[in-house]
Amino acid sequence: MSHIKINEAKCKSCYLCIDACPKKLIQKSDNIGSMAQYTVEFNDTKNQCLGCAICAMVCPDMAIEEVVNDK
Ligand code: SF4
Ligand code: SF4
Repeated sequence: MSHIKINEAKCKSCYLCIDACPKKLIQKSDNIGSMAQYTVEFNDTKNQCLGCAICAMVCPDMAIEEVVNDK
């Protein structure tokens, strides 16, 4: 099991991470961020996160601050 920590205050709502996650575990949140658009949140109800850190690598704003690999 792995998970990520997103700092929504840093999110600029580019949504690159949504497209990049191979398991589609990142989605728009209900919160409006600094760019007046929805920020993103991690949603992994089936514990599918690979801990691959692709989401963190594609984020231009370092908003995905931590990838925790519990395996
Ligand atoms: S670490 Fe990999 S599987 Fe987990 S949310 Fe990021 S891109 Fe998706
Ligand atoms: S890639 Fe980073 S800035 Fe873009 S939506 Fe995802 S967390 Fe926000």
